[in-house]
Amino acid sequence: MKTGFGFLAAALIGGAAIHAQQPTPPAATVTAIRAGRLLDPEAGRILTNQIILVTGNRITDVGPNVQVPAGAQVIDLSRMTVMPGLVDSHNHLALTYKPDPENNVYYYTYVADSTALRAIEAASNGIQMLAAGFTVVRDLGNNGNYADSALRQAIDQGWLPGPTLINSGIIIGGMGGQFFPTPEMVKSHNIVYPEYLDADTPDEIVKAVRQNILFGAKVIKICVDCKPYGYTADEIRLFIKEAAKAGMKVAGHVQTPQGAKNAIDAGIWSIEHGTALNDDLHKQMAAKGIWRAGTETPMGLDGHPVSQQAYDRTVAGLKNAYANHVQSVFSTDADYFVRGKTRGELVLEFLRPWKDAGIPNVDIVRAITINGYKVADIDTTRGPIKAGNFADLIALPGNPLDDVDALKNVAFVMKDGLVFKKDGVVTPMAFFHAGPVNGWRIR
Ligand SMILES: [Zn+2]
Repeated sequence: MKTGFGFLAAALIGGAAIHAQQPTPPAATVTAIRAGRLLDPEAGRILTNQIILVTGNRITDVGPNVQVPAGAQVIDLSRMTVMPGLVDSHNHLALTYKPDPENNVYYYTYVADSTALRAIEAASNGIQMLAAGFTVVRDLGNNGNYADSALRQAIDQGWLPGPTLINSGIIIGGMGGQFFPTPEMVKSHNIVYPEYLDADTPDEIVKAVRQNILFGAKVIKICVDCKPYGYTADEIRLFIKEAAKAGMKVAGHVQTPQGAKNAIDAGIWSIEHGTALNDDLHKQMAAKGIWRAGTETPMGLDGHPVSQQAYDRTVAGLKNAYANHVQSVFSTDADYFVRGKTRGELVLEFLRPWKDAGIPNVDIVRAITINGYKVADIDTTRGPIKAGNFADLIALPGNPLDDVDALKNVAFVMKDGLVFKKDGVVTPMAFFHAGPVNGWRIR
């Protein structure tokens, strides 16, 4: 024991010393990007012939007459549209159910794939998302035993490239979560769990929120109404209050109108999935400024059929939300594998319902950029291409305000001031390190 204490004390003192001795970083590199067209989604306009100055990981100047400092690296995107990176506001990077071996039944994925394997899948999916232009992903649970936190930490520490992750940890729900586990599963909690964190009483709600905060969540995700004993408005208020202590928002999976009503009455931050939302609920959401992450699935994805009737309902719901001025985000619920497509390419197929709902291109672009930054609650530091923000930006040959499918052809990606993709080719080596170059974090 004595040795143990001695080691602990030495480690603690040593830790402080290491912190104090961190070398000063080398002078930040300066990059000047020549943007032929610069798209500002918020204003809905394009400026031509702009120069974006990037110093280290931040944008330091933008304008038509910015002086390019001597020795700056120059990136010529003069024939491209440059714009903020894309955001998928509802994804599951550490879940990939497949035709083989589980016949797309995700109950079996949870049994067959370890958290360790799923963390590596998530790392791969994150890289695939970044390659398609997604610099931010809201990752809302079903990630095993905190594979999402592990990936976020690894990206933040500088081990590998990936989007900025706003991850939820384990989804919190009344007993059973979204599953219908057998008594044996519930009793021994060693099959299927920990996909859901049971919280049935006020004490358990507080404890579950704290567990997720402790283990690295950046948003709290709850199952509002996955079971007949779903949460009341008061219970949802308790989640919101406890999450707020850590500056976090609450996202609610909703599948019934009553669940939506409870979530709206409680003043939840975002409602995930649009299927239960109707005209009346949309009006209430708009009045209270509640975000809608509708997760609209397109028709025609190989192996994932959607009936015409179901698709028509999806499109009508999106249309109604737009008509009621509900603030909405591009969101996919992507958690499966479609052969021949990367996770990023799959996600971009989800633009179709937005087009079919007749939503103007400029508002689709806002939903997949600026609204995504807002629902992720990071819009004061990431998103708009302006001085002071992190240097996350993408470029593509077309103009998404004319044809939103131009977003499927992202040729250039910069993340945190580093070039990840150029001329359509991923060049990730600047992101890989054999140690935590951005510092060690507790969570
Ligand atoms: Zn989901």
